Amino acid sequence: MRKVISICSHLLILIVAAAGGAFAQNDPEWTEAFPGFRVAGNLYYVGSKGLASYLVVTPAGNILINSDMEANLPLIRASIEGLGFKFSDTKILLISHAHFDHDAGSAKIKELTGASYMVMDGDVPVVESGGKADFQYGNRAEFLYPPAKVDRALHDGDEVKLGGAVLVAHLTPGHTKGCTTWTMKVSEGGKTYNVVIVGSPNVNPGYKLVRNDAYPQIAKDYQRMFDVLKALPCDIFLGAHGGYFGLEEKYAHREGSGRRPKAAPTSGEEKNGGANPFVDPDGYRKFVAEKEKEFRTELAKQRLAAK
Ligand SMILES: [Zn+2]
Repeated sequence: MRKVISICSHLLILIVAAAGGAFAQNDPEWTEAFPGFRVAGNLYYVGSKGLASYLVVTPAGNILINSDMEANLPLIRASIEGLGFKFSDTKILLISHAHFDHDAGSAKIKELTGASYMVMDGDVPVVESGGKADFQYGNRAEFLYPPAKVDRALHDGDEVKLGGAVLVAHLTPGHTKGCTTWTMKVSEGGKTYNVVIVGSPNVNPGYKLVRNDAYPQIAKDYQRMFDVLKALPCDIFLGAHGGYFGLEEKYAHREGSGRRPKAAPTSGEEKNGGANPFVDPDGYRKFVAEKEKEFRTELAKQRLAAK
């Protein structure tokens, strides 16, 4: 199905996107290169235009969040190397959640770097079965991918530490059973910022929020996720897709001319005289509120239809 690209596919993407779906098959932006850049402190963006990946750089090696699809590997690698870091220094691999657009490349990255793969417990059976254990997409061949062994199963609140960096895994379930929102602190210009990397708040098309035998507590989990997201302190707002937080607009604002960063990458703050567009606590709160409203609307609709 991923190979079926027709002239109608773009329209289909728009329809799926309008319906709140994260699974826009064949979305060309998923494999479109995007410049690697420093978000703030030791946190870098190394994803594509549509699929977000992050690199946390430490003296003991680096942490990569989101392997994306296998087709994204050359892009991620080029971004890491373009920023002056080594792909082989990737010591820990994390994901936002167990859907192929964020984790299909994990087996390959583990093989190439020897990184330790750490995944929230609810998503472990999914990544280790290459998607077959997914409650929604497990029997859909086009959503499956190479299985990858998990080296450390994470639980809500667990810390991932490397070279002084500390990332906290927050269980924000619903979209997947182990959907994870990552938080960390970064320091820059004498300030410390709370970073939030949202796992996914989306109710995909076809998701059953009522009487879901494969995921009975799904509606409760979504509500838990929104309660967690609302309680997290957030200065720097990021997520699993650039679309969540306005990657392109913020990057353009940061760059001014839209030039690609060269040998010495600078952060938004340095370029923009103090205003880093990725520092966006209001945008975060607005995004979470909008997504909660979408969820509640869909839940009410499904409850009514189930009566
Ligand atoms: Zn997803």
